[in-house]
Amino acid sequence: MDPKLLFYIIIAILIVSFIVDKIIDYLNAKHFDDEIPKELRDVFNQEEYYKSQAYKKENYRFSLITSSFSILLTLAFFLFKGFAWVDKFARNHGENEIIVALIFFGIIMIGSDILNTPFSFYQTFIIEEKYGFNKSSKRLFLVDKLKGWLLSAIIGGGVLALIIWFYEKTDEMFWIYTWILIGLFTIFMTMFYSSLIVPLFNKQTPLENGNLKEAIQDFSKKVGFKLDNIFVIDGSKRSTKANAYFSGFGAKKRIVLYDTLINDLNNEEIVAVLAHEIGHYKKNHVLFNMFMSLLLTGITLYIFSLFIGNSILSEALSVEVPSFHIGLITFGILYSPISELTGILMNFISRKFEYQADNYAKHFYNGKDLISSLKKLSKNNLSNLTPHKANVFLHYSHPTLLQRVKNLS
Ligand SMILES: [Zn+2]
Repeated sequence: MDPKLLFYIIIAILIVSFIVDKIIDYLNAKHFDDEIPKELRDVFNQEEYYKSQAYKKENYRFSLITSSFSILLTLAFFLFKGFAWVDKFARNHGENEIIVALIFFGIIMIGSDILNTPFSFYQTFIIEEKYGFNKSSKRLFLVDKLKGWLLSAIIGGGVLALIIWFYEKTDEMFWIYTWILIGLFTIFMTMFYSSLIVPLFNKQTPLENGNLKEAIQDFSKKVGFKLDNIFVIDGSKRSTKANAYFSGFGAKKRIVLYDTLINDLNNEEIVAVLAHEIGHYKKNHVLFNMFMSLLLTGITLYIFSLFIGNSILSEALSVEVPSFHIGLITFGILYSPISELTGILMNFISRKFEYQADNYAKHFYNGKDLISSLKKLSKNNLSNLTPHKANVFLHYSHPTLLQRVKNLS
């Protein structure tokens, strides 16, 4: 194949996926003013409803601006041979392939992050602030950013260096070693995420003794779910938005409740949310998701290994010296339509799982408290109650609030 043709295919993929995204966003936005279904009329009062509509519209306009800016910049970077330029710079400063790749990705990542920062700053301090969500300070915003960079330099850089080393030592067989590495890394992170990564950004304290803890323990005892670690995280230092999640497995398993969740929901509603989370565990969703993501990673790596030796991946981007890191960029874009499809499949499965977890909560606790907690969370997040079907099908990992309320009633 002619490298020029491959280059045009890449540009076409970028443009088509942008246009499809914008069409979906547009369809979704057209339904912002739809009448609210009768099951959800008690979510917002009139004033909150107007506020939620203004919030949705503002976010829609803003994402239109940021994504247009980003696609124009990306296309310009491709058309003006940006990757060849960065690659040359990295080659002038690094003596081996691993160092060159680290410099290369360092420049691309930090460059794109710096370009994005004004937008995420605006999102946090203008939009989120205006609707009362933001609790972060400018100092915290900056510190978060620096910690994020440091973390991705250490973890991302370390993993990338190992993968290139595997490639140098074993050629196409690198995919098996990389797969094992990513598998071990995923298991390690699932187990130690809460004790290694979270403390860099948040404070976690054990839930204090009292009614809530008793209610949670009573329920988990009733359904035979061993649970010793219940933590509260200070999510309120960044945002008023609430959440709860499980992390780890086996003895490392813990429930993490946002302090904002404890403020917003009553004890029965919190237990209902946890009953839903326990449902995910009992139905083996956690294991299934881990297995699926490992399987998809393996397949992707294998396909990647079939192409990586071909210098056309580098030639398409006008890079003279073929290399692993340029191949990774080209392959990543060529593969993105396929990962889009697997993403849709995973969302489809995830929505099924959400119903199952809801049903578990309904059966072993009750549907009423889960409904009222879901409604409260939607209200406090100014959620969109009338999303377009296509948007739900492509992007939603959870059923809509209406679907869940109907199922739980
Ligand atoms: Zn869930």
